[in-house]
Amino acid sequence: MLEWNSIDTVLFDMDGTVLDLHFDNHFWEDLVPARYAERHGLEKAEAQALLRKRYENVKGTLDWYCLDFWSESLDMDIAGMKEQARHKIALRPFALEFLKQLRNSGRTALLVTNAHPDSLNLKMRHTGLAEHFDRTVSSHTVGSQNLRLAKENVGFWHALRQQHPFDPQRTLLIDDSLPVLRRAAAEGIRHLLAIRQPDSQRAPLQPEEFMQLDDFTQIMQGLQQANTCGSGPVRD
Ligand SMILES: [Mg+2]
Repeated sequence: MLEWNSIDTVLFDMDGTVLDLHFDNHFWEDLVPARYAERHGLEKAEAQALLRKRYENVKGTLDWYCLDFWSESLDMDIAGMKEQARHKIALRPFALEFLKQLRNSGRTALLVTNAHPDSLNLKMRHTGLAEHFDRTVSSHTVGSQNLRLAKENVGFWHALRQQHPFDPQRTLLIDDSLPVLRRAAAEGIRHLLAIRQPDSQRAPLQPEEFMQLDDFTQIMQGLQQANTCGSGPVRD
């Protein structure tokens, strides 16, 4: 399925890829609207419709992922609410096993997320995943001070390489977002994989232009074979 001998770096998305997207969907589509409805004397469905519009307005920009932006514009303690809901944060099947196998093979694993640094830290603290990555990067720290970029924005992957060098020809990106995968392909990342069911409580996504992973066991076997046949990544 993958040419493991030509891959020495794997970039992982966080929400919907190594973690179940259910936490985030539940948080933004249930918890926040329920609190908002309470506060403004609305029905929950009304609050959901209202907030959905506000979400749509900033989707694809870093504001969408910014806890400070939402805390301010909704006048709610979003970080505090996330902390309270943290028991719902869960790994996707075999994410940890795959990460361990990957690191043992001598390859580099980077977590690259659009999540706000506070969200990233909360999720790393709750899951203990950080130690299994060579580095964790929030896109809120990528680009210049005046122009921070989300992963789906033009120039993100070039900017990331400036700050955290990797060879795009020998890199695999696993991400549940189509706009992100398309942007990475346009900026030269050679190996790309999507996720078939980012939220365990929702229907799988329709097949698209990228190969889709059900769970990480699908690519673990190939990695194991590549390791026993050679000694980790082969450089040309
Ligand atoms: Mg994602």
